[in-house]
Amino acid sequence: MFQFDLKSKNQPAFDLLRVPLIGKLLTWQHARTLLQIPLFIISAAMILHGLFGPTLAPRNLATTFTWVHFRGALVFVLLFAGNFFCLACPFMLVRNLARKFFRPVRNWPRPLRNKWLSVGLLISLLFLYEWFDLWASPWWTAWLIIAYFAGALLIDAVFKHASFCKFVCPIGQFNFVASTVSPLEVTVRDYDVCTRCATKDCIRGVREPAAPLVTIQRGCELALFQPRKTGNIDCTFCLDCVQACPHDNVGVISRVPAAELMTDGMRSGVGFLSKRKDLGVLVIVFSFGALLNAFGMVSPVYALEQWLANLFGVNYELPVLALIFGLFLVFEPLLLIGIAAWLSRVWGGSRRPLVSLAVRYSYSLAPLGFGIWLAHFGFHFLSGLYTFIPVTQAALANLGWAVLGQPQWSLSGLAPNVVQVFEHGFITLGLLGSLLVSYSIAKTEEVGHPMRIFILWGVLSLIIACGAFWLMSQPMEMRGVVLGGFA
Ligand code: SF4
Ligand code: SF4
Repeated sequence: MFQFDLKSKNQPAFDLLRVPLIGKLLTWQHARTLLQIPLFIISAAMILHGLFGPTLAPRNLATTFTWVHFRGALVFVLLFAGNFFCLACPFMLVRNLARKFFRPVRNWPRPLRNKWLSVGLLISLLFLYEWFDLWASPWWTAWLIIAYFAGALLIDAVFKHASFCKFVCPIGQFNFVASTVSPLEVTVRDYDVCTRCATKDCIRGVREPAAPLVTIQRGCELALFQPRKTGNIDCTFCLDCVQACPHDNVGVISRVPAAELMTDGMRSGVGFLSKRKDLGVLVIVFSFGALLNAFGMVSPVYALEQWLANLFGVNYELPVLALIFGLFLVFEPLLLIGIAAWLSRVWGGSRRPLVSLAVRYSYSLAPLGFGIWLAHFGFHFLSGLYTFIPVTQAALANLGWAVLGQPQWSLSGLAPNVVQVFEHGFITLGLLGSLLVSYSIAKTEEVGHPMRIFILWGVLSLIIACGAFWLMSQPMEMRGVVLGGFA
């Protein structure tokens, strides 16, 4: 039987913080700032180039870096390591600087202490991406980055702790769900040490001995208490807990990817997965949104748009796009998950209520959803792998500082047949992960016919995977990529 006891191991197989040089760098007090500064400089360059540079997307840093390189690098780091983008997040650099001058005094409003707002923002981001053709607009992309900086600054200037990261940031929520499949987790090295620990600084923070109200090192701003923390949900990998723990008892430790989705114990700062409808809906939006985002890039979407426009007699894109979003993000998940949940009761003998079944098994979709995002973003990233070189060369040459030489617009990326192997590999891996999670949940949590229930949710994953395979086999738009020899 597949069952992973996440809290039983005291001896980790691998701890990134124990690796020479890397461990030393990451445990350095100013490591986060050091990692944030380059990303902040790149973000500033992207904003300036987006606002004042060439309007052609494949020649602009804002669009090329955001929609080709950043997204691709993000998912690959999540796949091979963990949520290290949040660690190096440039928005938090500005916010941390601002907090040196003013301290927020308010707590985030209680009714908003969940994921509903960020789910809405994630859907809005996906919607705006399609509506404004963000991949094709350096200007709008620059404004999106500015809005992000302003939003993070404003919210964390008013509200205490990491309110923006935990309750608002749509990229953060994307990372939280994707990092459930990551091989690394910020976690305790030895639980016995925590049992004996008197101060619990990992959550409280380290106080000035002479002035106990003064914090000299933050504890976890995301309200994750290390000994009771499970998995990567809500963890920004900020490593504040590593800095705060007086016993050097927190590491970045290897684990079985997606195992955290198979258990349903009480988690610090998160609660029970099965009771978090907001988190379940976030995973559903993450997974079906992966299909929808990829669908927006293939030619059948134009045929569907035209058909809907004719059917309802409308000439504007907005209502047609809203219909497509409703179809993919509301109707499709409701129908498929609803049928699987209903059959789990009548054929699988599950005693859970329908909503509870839908919420619990929605987490099994996370690996597949991530596999589809990987396939999609990986396609752009690998197809346009080298495009940052000519775009950077051109940007510097336009400033009269051609230190990198003249732009080599013929540089693009990997061959299409190689990229396609990666795409199909990612979806297959995601599908296997989802099957494993649903099998484990059914085996360990159901009293009726676990195998039947597994088959139902496995078929759901299979249907979604078939949709993804079909999408990836369609010719995709080369968004944000300069085609070889492009003049
Ligand atoms: S401060 Fe360190 S030892 Fe104490 S509870 Fe937190 S992680 Fe465990
Ligand atoms: S302080 Fe909290 S959010 Fe930061 S790494 Fe530790 S557990 Fe994760």
